[in-house]
Amino acid sequence: NAKPTDFDFLKVIGKGSFGKVLLAKRKCDGTFYAVKVLHKKTILKKKEQTHIMAERNVLLKNVKHPFLVGLHYSFQTSEKLYFVLDYVNGGELFFHLQRERCFREPRARFYAAEVASAIGYLHSLNIIYRDLKPENILLDCQGHIVLTDFGLCKEGMEQEETTSTFCGTPEYLAPEVLKKQPYDRTVDWWCLGAVLYEMLFGLPPFYSRDVSQMYDNILHKPLQIQGSKTVAACDILQGLLHKDQKRRLGAKSDFLEIKNHVFFSPVNWDDLYHKRITPPFNPNVAGPADLRHFDPEFTQEAVSTSITHTPDLAASSSSASDAFLGFSYAPTEEGI
Ligand code: AMP
Repeated sequence: NAKPTDFDFLKVIGKGSFGKVLLAKRKCDGTFYAVKVLHKKTILKKKEQTHIMAERNVLLKNVKHPFLVGLHYSFQTSEKLYFVLDYVNGGELFFHLQRERCFREPRARFYAAEVASAIGYLHSLNIIYRDLKPENILLDCQGHIVLTDFGLCKEGMEQEETTSTFCGTPEYLAPEVLKKQPYDRTVDWWCLGAVLYEMLFGLPPFYSRDVSQMYDNILHKPLQIQGSKTVAACDILQGLLHKDQKRRLGAKSDFLEIKNHVFFSPVNWDDLYHKRITPPFNPNVAGPADLRHFDPEFTQEAVSTSITHTPDLAASSSSASDAFLGFSYAPTEEGI
């Protein structure tokens, strides 16, 4: 029975394709959450109900991992869908990367390892993440990675099973996705390669301002690695960014292959999982109210009253509610 009036919506902290993410304080206990509010109409117009329900299904599966955002519960009104998520305020990895242009290898390795650990976990549940990019990688208040946005996850993907939906973000599209060929979980390892490359060099691999040139580069141009990077870094990038998905690092034994690559030899994976490794950078946030790592373009925006004042579900007779049947979900009493 959760409803928008359970929360004080304090600030806009981000925007996605279907709506906004807000910092909200739950009235009953003062807990801060990030609440993602999506407009049903926009979703239906773009025929994206399946993706949104996939995001909610990931929630239902009780996916829990130290480097994945905690999805607490979801509810809906006649016009909107609400996801109640952990509030993560160390900023987007992209934001920090832009500020520093690129990261040195140990820092990039730490982030890549935490991301790989989360992706490996999703794969073990037969979920492909599909939309790995710096904007979806947040830092928590200590500087650990948190992956958000399960909107493009594909469920029920057994090892070697393929799918062919064209989705993702231009800079990070794997060749097989671009070619609209069937793809499998190795797309996530391609994206890990793209993110690692961008962390080390400041730009995505194969980047061009001209998108069609970039697509051509992804499909045909050999990966060029410039500058003084270690042999291990060059080798893992060549492996992850292999254009042939069958020969890509991770194609044979998935996460295990990544874990065992020499680039990650300084990483103790058990310590990493238990957050016993001190992050290389501390975002230094003063507390939940500290919004220094969010873009002022969002935080200065007024919170629309329609976020809380929206007709409840019972008031609706539209097909919109049918499209999202079963969306609302509360896993435990903790969420209510
Ligand atoms: P999304 O629609 O999930 O891609 O979210 C859009 C943006 O909102 C992200 O790029 C983040 O900057 C921000 N955001 C999403 N989820 C959270 C969260 N749990 N905590 C803090 N900020 C978030």
